[in-house]
Amino acid sequence: MHEASALLVGGTLTAVDAVMTGQSLHALNLGGGLHHGFRGKASGFCIYNDSSVAIKYLQKKYGARVLYVDTDAHHGDGVQWSFYDDPDVCTLSIHETGRYLFPGTGNINERGQGKGYGYSFNIPVDAFTEDESWLECYKTSFKEVIKFFKPDVILTQNGADSHYYDPLTHLSATMKIYKEIPKLAHEMAHKYCEGRWIAVGGGGYDIWRVVPRAWARVWLEMTNKDISGPLSKEWLDCWQPESPVPLPNEWDDMEDIYEPIPRKPEITEKNALTLEKVLYPIRSSKQTAKSNEQS
Ligand SMILES: [Zn+2]
Ligand SMILES: [Zn+2]
Repeated sequence: MHEASALLVGGTLTAVDAVMTGQSLHALNLGGGLHHGFRGKASGFCIYNDSSVAIKYLQKKYGARVLYVDTDAHHGDGVQWSFYDDPDVCTLSIHETGRYLFPGTGNINERGQGKGYGYSFNIPVDAFTEDESWLECYKTSFKEVIKFFKPDVILTQNGADSHYYDPLTHLSATMKIYKEIPKLAHEMAHKYCEGRWIAVGGGGYDIWRVVPRAWARVWLEMTNKDISGPLSKEWLDCWQPESPVPLPNEWDDMEDIYEPIPRKPEITEKNALTLEKVLYPIRSSKQTAKSNEQS
């Protein structure tokens, strides 16, 4: 366990070096993203927290200010608590509310402590949240938080367990979000960080229909490729015989993979309100700065 977990951390550190030395603009370690690991304590399928180690490494070796963005359906607790009092690391986690889901944390009011107060952002979305509302939370918060924090580098955790098919969580996203997640991260990296973007994997428990397509999307985005339409016949022929469920034929999901969600308007409204509350401090400080300028 130690050796396998240490190797995963080494993979993320290698990605960090590739990006920070300028060898690559972006780097991806799909084996990383073990965001529940704590200092001295394994948790939630995670032994060592490669992102936490990598962020510390980015600070010590490169003096970098890091924005960590976590789109796994579970709260990125290990990374958040590791840098909770550090104003040079900003964490943003968008996850299913901890009400009925591990690890139970990730509330709006977890904003950091001491000097780190105001550098921890949590957007807990309601169970059954669908693409549109999820993407509104993701895009708006990412754009506003990065504008506020101005990092040197972005580290994204790409857990693929917010999909409707995921057996562990209760969100209702589709492949749409897995196309948009890396697309915005890529755009923001070029806009604010001269391209410096490190991505890691994370959770994802529909290993047949969701994870391969979602993680391929991260790589496709990083390498400036866009693909839609049918999946490769070679891949389908290789894995359909092993899969307990029929594999999808296309990169995108069909429109009817689930029945309409009855509470959609309420969920959308609740998430919008959550987003507003989370971003209120950086929006109001901007307002204050503006009115000071004017007066
Ligand atoms: Zn690029
Ligand atoms: Zn997860």
